[in-house]
Amino acid sequence: MNEKPPNNPLVPDVDEDLVVDLTDAHQGGVSVPTGVAAQPSTAPEDSPQEPHWAPPSVRNRMCLVLDTDDMVQAERTALALMPYFGVVKVGLELFSATGPNAIANLTDFGFDVFCDLKLHDIPTTVGRAARVLGGLGATFLTLHAHGGVDMMRAGVEGLAEGAANAGQTAPKALAVTVLTSDDTALDHVAPERMRWAMEAGCGGLVLAASDLHDAFTLAPRMTRVVPGIRQAGTETHDQARAATPGDAIRAGADLLVIGRAVTHADDPEAAAASIADEVSRALA
Ligand code: C5P
Repeated sequence: MNEKPPNNPLVPDVDEDLVVDLTDAHQGGVSVPTGVAAQPSTAPEDSPQEPHWAPPSVRNRMCLVLDTDDMVQAERTALALMPYFGVVKVGLELFSATGPNAIANLTDFGFDVFCDLKLHDIPTTVGRAARVLGGLGATFLTLHAHGGVDMMRAGVEGLAEGAANAGQTAPKALAVTVLTSDDTALDHVAPERMRWAMEAGCGGLVLAASDLHDAFTLAPRMTRVVPGIRQAGTETHDQARAATPGDAIRAGADLLVIGRAVTHADDPEAAAASIADEVSRALA
């Protein structure tokens, strides 16, 4: 994962007054810190407004969901919360609005990009789409495990081919086992899809925290990516199988996918700092 230092010369100075709101419903916002590129990992004691950068062990476990159709908003939000997040997620909404530019712009800022398009089609189609996506510079790309072994294998091979053609490192293929919004799947479904993902050559799994114990047994070397993250006592929205950041890390998550817990918070930066602190304590 990206171990780049936070003082990335590619990150522009941004206006102090910029206020970001990823959602229509949310009334708050996050201020982009001035001169974010020049932030040292430990801000001076006498500048309490300047965010402290979370250590790489925490930042690289935190993925910020950029669910918006506006690239400018997505960039502002990503930059404002860069002290806490080393990975950003480009999902269906942002990719539909902006296409590959979203990945290029965000990698230029120094983020690892999680391209969450959840490919699910016949193997030939998935393979051909993956070949295009493999050359775009993303670090992760999702495939629906429901599509089966042949489909996922076609995706893995497509990613490798596309990356090689572009002179890039291939994105890691992540198999989405059972959506965290789905609490109706029978017990055997997630383990079966984990086995399929391994057989197909995927590098990781997207799974609910409650399925992590199966991943340790069945696919111990795969990267474990956990969405549905909520702090204790907060709104879970449509996530039927939510977990706290601390519980997910203690159960073995490698990467937490964090969206509305931060982007819908009254104070997104404070929410991000609080989650980073919880992750840090769980890792200790
Ligand atoms: O944290 P929040 O619930 O806002 O995160 C929602 C995001 O996580 C959405 O972009 C959704 O696509 C993604 N996601 C998910 N469950 C999965 C895989 C991805 O919620 N299994």
